[in-house]
Amino acid sequence: MNNFNGIKKILRDNNSFLITSHINLDGDGIGSELALYFVLKKLNKKPIILNQDRLPRIYKFLPDSDKIHYLDDNCIDPKSIDVCIVLDCSNIRRIGKTYEIFKDLKTVINIDHHMSNENYGSLNYVDSSASSVGEIIFELIKSINIDLLDKNISTCLFTAIITDTGSFRYSNVNFNTFAIASHLTSDGIKPYLIADNIYNKNTYTGLKLLGEALLTLEIDNSNYVSWVTITRKILSDTNAKDEEIEGIVDIVTSLDKVEISILFRETKDNKIKVSFRSKGNFNVNKFAGKFKGGGHLNAAGCLCSGKLEEIKEKILSELFSDIKCLKCKN
Ligand code: AMP
Ligand code: MN
Ligand code: MN
Repeated sequence: MNNFNGIKKILRDNNSFLITSHINLDGDGIGSELALYFVLKKLNKKPIILNQDRLPRIYKFLPDSDKIHYLDDNCIDPKSIDVCIVLDCSNIRRIGKTYEIFKDLKTVINIDHHMSNENYGSLNYVDSSASSVGEIIFELIKSINIDLLDKNISTCLFTAIITDTGSFRYSNVNFNTFAIASHLTSDGIKPYLIADNIYNKNTYTGLKLLGEALLTLEIDNSNYVSWVTITRKILSDTNAKDEEIEGIVDIVTSLDKVEISILFRETKDNKIKVSFRSKGNFNVNKFAGKFKGGGHLNAAGCLCSGKLEEIKEKILSELFSDIKCLKCKN
């Protein structure tokens, strides 16, 4: 049974904390980092947030998001850190190069909700029933002192929760998610303003990218799987940034009858990143695991090396053979 006693003791006994999350930061990673940062400040500790990747533009509205440090600032002396807290990160590879900074630290707290979490911390708090790490940070605050909650923290946690639940649409939502969201809005934060910042700040290039990506849409004969492909050429032709790819796979998933959707994309460093989404019981976490990736039941990903067309072929044929097996068993 998970409890927060171990984490609370570490917070009590130490002074300086490095907070980090995964590469390709998302709303849960960033919202949870900032919420924990505000809590530690209120507890008179010295927190610092350090990420490998720059903050996506849409999250700049979050309070103190300009205080986040990045690896290329070269501003962190690992010797000055007592504890590292890693949020929303299922394995060490997902931490990226930030791992180099704290890998020799004795105390690493891993707080996560991915079912594929590899328990790489010296203390691991993994709750795969939580919709988001934001939900876990809320519970942690409740167990320390709920009066610590303020508008800044609520804004960050609400952002974490709505982004990881697709605005309360995914299967990871339950009554507790709504109870926490309700609590977060009780002191006056405005959900529609947070949603406006996250969902209504599309750029011209971002929408052009969406259009080009949808032109690549393919679907199998049984309408069970759909996929799109974003090459470096599409990104350069539309002038879009990589961070603007976020959300496109979810649009592909909205196709009626389709159970599984996939986004194949070429990354800046010549790898192929694959995002999987499913609507029902097909476990994309397990499937992504075949390619050293992971995630959740209905949302997962993996990073592959090789040629785009070969990887697509390999992943799709593996997927169709899995689906065939499943259909035989049923
Ligand atoms: P994405 O497709 O990047 O939006 O990711 C969907 C989910 O899968 C997120 O919860 C990620 O943390 C997880 N995920 C994505 N890529 C990987 C990977 N290479 N290894 C493990 N988990 C991943
Ligand atoms: Mn995340
Ligand atoms: Mn998450």
